[in-house]
Order: sequence, then C-alpha cells, then structure tokens
Amino acid sequence: MNIDNISNNNNNDNSRLATPSEEDCCHNGCNPCIFDIHAKLLEEHKKKEKGNVKVQISNNILCQFSYKNFVITDIKEAADSYILLSLKYQENDTKNDACLLIEPGQHVMLHLQDATKPFTPLYYTNDSIQFLIRLYQNGKFSTYLRQARIGNEIRVRGPYGNFSYTCNSFQNIVMFCMGSGITAMYPIAKSIIDNELEETRIHFIGCFQKISQIPLKKELQVLSDYWNFKSILYISQLLNEVHNLHGVDIKSGRLHEESVYQILKKNVNSTTLVLICGSPEFNNSVEQWTRNTNCNHIHVFE
Ligand SMILES: Cc1cc2nc3c(=O)[nH]c(=O)nc-3n(C[C@H](O)[C@H](O)[C@H](O)COP(=O)(O)OP(=O)(O)OC[C@H]3O[C@@H](n4cnc5c(N)ncnc54)[C@H](O)[C@@H]3O)c2cc1C
Repeated sequence: MNIDNISNNNNNDNSRLATPSEEDCCHNGCNPCIFDIHAKLLEEHKKKEKGNVKVQISNNILCQFSYKNFVITDIKEAADSYILLSLKYQENDTKNDACLLIEPGQHVMLHLQDATKPFTPLYYTNDSIQFLIRLYQNGKFSTYLRQARIGNEIRVRGPYGNFSYTCNSFQNIVMFCMGSGITAMYPIAKSIIDNELEETRIHFIGCFQKISQIPLKKELQVLSDYWNFKSILYISQLLNEVHNLHGVDIKSGRLHEESVYQILKKNVNSTTLVLICGSPEFNNSVEQWTRNTNCNHIHVFE
C-alpha cells in the first residue's frame, strides 16, 4: 500500500485533523503508518487553507488517521479457510447523520490485539461492515481472528485506495483475481451490475486452488445471470467433484499467458479496463501479460 493511495475525498473535516495518540500506532511498521497519514492530510489541509479552498465537511464515520471502535456481530464460514466477518460501529458519534462511506474496491485497516492488517469491505450499511477474510495457518491476524468471538472489539481506520470509476467510462472491464483478491473485485462488479444505467460488460476471471476454496459462489452465480457479467474460474487442483456452479465456466489448471491473450485479444484497448488483484507474483505476471496484448488501462490492487 502506497501513501499516495490515500483518498482525500471524505476526510477533510477540521475536527478530524487532531494528532493521533501514541496508542493509535500499533508499532508494527504499517505502510502507511497512522502518523504518516496524519502528516500528509495536515499538509493538504494547510495548502487548501492557503489557497482559500473551502474545506468540505465529511459525514464519514471512518477516519484515515484515528481508529473507530467496532464490535464483532457475526463470524461465519464462507469456504475452506475463509470467513465472513461482520462488524458494527459502537461509538456514539457527535454528528447524528454520520454514516459509513466506502467506495467499491477501497480498503480499511483492521486492528486486533497488537496486529493491524488491510482488508477490503465486501458490503456495508450506515453503521456495519462485512469482510471476506482468508485465514492462514500461521498468520498473526488469522490466529487472532480464529480466537475472536461475537462481542469482541475490533478497531477500524480508513478508507484507503485510489481506484475510482465513472459509470460507463469503459465498454468492458476484465477482472483478474486470485484467492482473497476477489474481495476487491466483487464490490466493484456488484455496484456496476446493480446500476441500471450501466452498459459496461464485466468479464470476471478468478483463480483458486480447489473448488472448496471458492468463496462467494452464490454471489458469482447471481451476477452471472445478468447480461453484462460472465465469469471463468481457473482451478489449479480440480478433482472429480460435483460443483453445481451453473452459469460459471470452470477450467482446470492455472491461468497462463495464452489464456490472458485469448481473453483480451477481442477487447479494443481504449474501451477496456483491466483490474488485477492477487499475490505480488500473480499481479506482476498478469500485468505483464496484459501489457503484452497492448491493453494499457490497468489498475493493480496491492
Ligand atoms: C490493500 C489490501 C487489501 C486486502 N484485503 C483483504 C481482504 O479483504 N481479505 C483477505 O483475506 N485478505 C486481504 N488482504 C490480505 C490481508 O491484509 C493479510 O495480509 C492476510 O490476511 C494475512 O494476514 P495474517 O496476519 O493472518 O498473516 P501473516 O502473519 O502476515 O502471514 C503469515 C503467513 O501466511 C501466508 N500468507 C499471508 N498472506 C498471504 C497472501 N496474501 N497470500 C499467500 N499467503 C499468504 C504466508 O505463508 C505468510 O508467511 C489485503 C491486503 C492488502 C494489501
């Protein structure tokens, strides 16, 4: 995550420029650290004041450089090694009309015990957020989450991320994701499919190890019923399993350059946006393969 990815559209409120307290920093070397974000926003604020720019008041419950307290309201299994984590805002905000404002594809930092990690909200309401989270065997945050119970507190700051999308700005969006990278793509796809004015076609390509490790199966099937959404899933260890994934094209094996070429060759460069989210190796390979097809509108979530 890069400090330039900090969005400045909803954290311009004066009252939110208070210096973070020492205990807001988890001392885990987060990038960006809460103090870096504060310094950057302060600098932006000063520039705006100098230029006599009217500072917009934000109603967002979330803040990029101070944590807000949420409580766990639900944890359920979503697939092998995946959980759906639901959080609800717990503080009495001074502003009655404050609510959660998160753009599709943006992420937040979750702080639990002494660990802070980025996660991408799947859904949110005015005061609750749901995340799809992959649990790793020896992962620090994963271990804390396995021990967490309904009612436990989790602190949240954000949102971050510089992906922005304007309705109908591309004819096609091709999404390449691997594993938990689906969390960046799903909210974007859903917001486009839910918008009746949208004429953009989405081609979703997801890469997973096993059928049992595909989260959001039902959600992908629902999207696949729409005229402008189609999906292919590459399963690297496809066994003789019944998968019941009607409407979704299942392919055995890993995604490789030739498949990316076949998918993208029909797309005209200026009208196609390619989104990529997976491990650093996946992102590098898919971005390079995409560039080899002369597609240049690329956004990599990292
Ligand atoms: C912007 C951004 C948004 C993210 N959004 C989400 C999200 O919505 N849902 C989600 O599940 N994750 C998401 N992640 C990843 C997440 O932040 C954590 O890195 C992940 O959950 C592991 O944390 P951990 O502390 O449990 O593991 P760590 O203690 O960091 O790692 C322990 C071990 O787990 C394995 N491991 C950890 N991360 C990965 C990985 N990404 N791929 C392969 N192996 C890994 C490695 O073997 C590693 O050595 C996001 C990451 C970024 C940068």
